[in-house]
Amino acid sequence: MKRAPRALARSYASKKGLFIIFDLRVRWRFVSILSMMGVMYISKTDFINYLYCRKNAWLKKHKPEVATEKLSEFEEGTIEMGNEVEAYAREMFPAGILVKGRDLAGQTFTKDLIRLEKTVIFQPVFVEDVFLVAADILERVDVADSAPGSDLPKHFNLYEVKATSEVNESHLDDLAFQRSVIELSGLIIDKTFVVHLNRHYIKKGELSLRDKFVAADVTEEVCARMSGIKEKMEEAKKYLLSEEEPLGACDCIHEGRSNHCESFSYSNPLVPEYAVHDLAYIGRSKKKLKELINLGIYKMEEVPDDFDLDLKQMNQVIAHKYDKVLIDRTLIKKELDDLIYPLYFLDYETFAPPIPMYDGYKPFQRVPFQFSLHVLERGASESKHFGFLHKENSDPGPEFCETLKSLIGTEGNVVVWNKSFECSVNRELGDRLPEFKGLMEQVNGRVFDLMEVFKKQYYVHKDFKGSFSIKYVLPVLVPDFSYASLNIKEGGMASEKWRQMVLEDLTREEKRQIADDLTEYCKLDTYAMQKIFEALLKLCNN
Ligand code: SF4
Repeated sequence: MKRAPRALARSYASKKGLFIIFDLRVRWRFVSILSMMGVMYISKTDFINYLYCRKNAWLKKHKPEVATEKLSEFEEGTIEMGNEVEAYAREMFPAGILVKGRDLAGQTFTKDLIRLEKTVIFQPVFVEDVFLVAADILERVDVADSAPGSDLPKHFNLYEVKATSEVNESHLDDLAFQRSVIELSGLIIDKTFVVHLNRHYIKKGELSLRDKFVAADVTEEVCARMSGIKEKMEEAKKYLLSEEEPLGACDCIHEGRSNHCESFSYSNPLVPEYAVHDLAYIGRSKKKLKELINLGIYKMEEVPDDFDLDLKQMNQVIAHKYDKVLIDRTLIKKELDDLIYPLYFLDYETFAPPIPMYDGYKPFQRVPFQFSLHVLERGASESKHFGFLHKENSDPGPEFCETLKSLIGTEGNVVVWNKSFECSVNRELGDRLPEFKGLMEQVNGRVFDLMEVFKKQYYVHKDFKGSFSIKYVLPVLVPDFSYASLNIKEGGMASEKWRQMVLEDLTREEKRQIADDLTEYCKLDTYAMQKIFEALLKLCNN
């Protein structure tokens, strides 16, 4: 199934996890136009882009200004971690020699290393026809007909390192492309492997490379797709190197907004910034979206009142079209009346590294490094704030739980926004630290998800734009509050900043600034929840 580049990133994104795409490393590493001596080349990133969406791949090469999105600090950090995974994986091949650069010097150095019969080469560069490949790891295999000193073609195994926990179709296409180009250069590839993280690995003491990675032999799967990939390479060559721009609307005209890549508005100028593509979950009802598009309906206000949409979608349309706020005070009151005080407004921040940093963690498992807690007694006009932020490069888990235990009491609802996040972090903490399992179960048993009021459609405003994110709800219910002035504005950035604070060589002042920014950000999350809660309460009592 085709997946747009941005959709690929977003599909892994969670409320505030770092699950995004360690695979993106591959896609962005060579994202710029590879032009050498006036010749345009097709790199493996270009080719994989082409397989996802040929139109966007063409635009990336010929009109990067409309098809290349600036990476966020979080995405930059994610790529950085992907590179670290590759560096770790290389340690499994201690004799490896690294080829730096993909220019002519890199190509010549690669040829020299092969001629000199070096056993392992990192990032060898091959250019054949218009295709360019920099492979992760190439390992020489001595077979009878290519023994050292022989003039016959050399045999190699090809390894592609992926900072993921399993093999996917795209990895196989990637390897088939590499294999085609390398074999065009006269080498023979015996076996192909995807080296990925071992999802069953749990860190205990020093990192063990062999346990941490799995070298999955995908030779058969790659061989099975070689002829298909060669055909696609010929098609990609014609399409991507053509100067003629593919015009007209693109296929994503029938896809929901989360599937669109950065060039969607360029290819579809008739579609407004806020359009029927933004209807909640419309990507799951493609038939309906297609019907609207075929009727020439792009604007939300043009959707007929009797069009077959589900409740959330229709409310979104009505709220926008008639500038109407839909509120069910009775149901909101019922939800809030049932709450038990004191109320504990709670929010977590986490960091999920591909390679576990501390004992007891698996690859990509979340490290909860911060929480904010606002405690509100019944009838009180002000809440009390408490916070926890771990500032060292060590497992925050025990201190996190101990501090939470001392603050969260045994009674009263724990109010969160999107309970699946906090509750699953609590379950993981309880599993990793059995002495806190009871506490975590008890906290989960007291959770009330304030987002549900909006998800259940008890309150719908046009400015929510179909989203239930606190970032959309807050400005409507509490207009005086905003994240705009904060240095950290969302969870992904908080994760990345924490990584920088504990792992990078920063000055004391830089670390202090990050700690202050994290504290302000997380504190606002829980205070925003409290203010939204109070605004709802006021609404019900008026
Ligand atoms: S928005 Fe258009 S160009 Fe972008 S991935 Fe979708 S179909 Fe391709």
